[in-house]
Amino acid sequence: MNFNRAVIKVGSALVAPTIDGCSGKYTLAIAQFITKCHQQGKEIILVSSGGVAAGRTVIQHGSPKLSSATKKAMASVGQMQMMANWQRFFDRPCSQILITQNDLADRQRFISIQETIQIQLANGVLPIVNENDTVTTEDLTIGDNDNLAALVAQACEADSLFILSDIDGVFTKDPKVNDDAVLIPNIDKITDEIYAMAGTSRNHLATGGMKTKIQAAEKAVEHGITTYIINGTKSEVFASLIAQVNPGTRFAADTDIITAKKHWLKHTLKSQGQIVLDKGAVNAVLNKGASLLPAGIKSVNKRFKAGDAIELINAVDNSVIAKGISLYSHHDLKRIMGKHSNDITSILGHEKGDVVVHRDDMVIL
Ligand code: GLU
Repeated sequence: MNFNRAVIKVGSALVAPTIDGCSGKYTLAIAQFITKCHQQGKEIILVSSGGVAAGRTVIQHGSPKLSSATKKAMASVGQMQMMANWQRFFDRPCSQILITQNDLADRQRFISIQETIQIQLANGVLPIVNENDTVTTEDLTIGDNDNLAALVAQACEADSLFILSDIDGVFTKDPKVNDDAVLIPNIDKITDEIYAMAGTSRNHLATGGMKTKIQAAEKAVEHGITTYIINGTKSEVFASLIAQVNPGTRFAADTDIITAKKHWLKHTLKSQGQIVLDKGAVNAVLNKGASLLPAGIKSVNKRFKAGDAIELINAVDNSVIAKGISLYSHHDLKRIMGKHSNDITSILGHEKGDVVVHRDDMVIL
């Protein structure tokens, strides 16, 4: 899977698919996917809806149209069930983070949220974020968490955002009424036409199941975060993601932002060590835009930690060909260099992914 840190947003329809509240019907497959990501050394932040849907059975309500206060009362009690429904699938601890969009708009609160999530990720915790519905002054609407997830993805510097719901992605027409509607696998630029295809518009008064998801994608890609809209009711989509096949609609991250990241990597970050590459790896990195795998490493110089910047050296002439962020420490690299990626777990007893330096975390010099 081509990401290191992702926000996965799960909609109410997946968490509490029936009137009986939370269930494992869809969340089990999602939790298994998250566990697979963890096993590959990836970091996940879950943004989960379902508070209102889970609390429906507890709070008395007459008409199907719920007042804002009733929904908040439901959300607050349902939140407990939603958290418990997730925690039962994980051996690692889950944390509950309740925030509002206003919190993320306040610089100091933004940093506080960012620090909390960073420390939790470093300690193997799965952060589970939801809107703090009790204190929001706006009416609660389905889709608020789509936008919240995009803001959380920015706060925790995720490289990817997965929006899981019960629809396959963005179609050329409404697939419910048009047999000839076709799923759009890749969207490079979000235009008014894209909103129109999804049966909605940029107008803030417009409604539509896709609108908030496209809005969220728009917010995320502007910050260099690749975004996917995926059908989380189909367990096979997770197998596709693991096989690096896009099962839904993928919104390409704004490359200017990635360029800015590479600029920072090249000019600001200090290299802590060096990795010497064989001929094949030099060719793959320079000519194929590939990530660096352990098999192509001949030697490792100096001491560095996982996450430190390092220089990639061509063994033939000792020239520096690239600079990148190593996912493994010098100590671990000395043990896996020259080995196949499949052997990483058996050698180290853990795995942080198949690659040593991901191409997105690398700048060619
Ligand atoms: N915070 C709401 C809940 O937990 C969900 C909002 C949304 O679905 O976007 O029910």
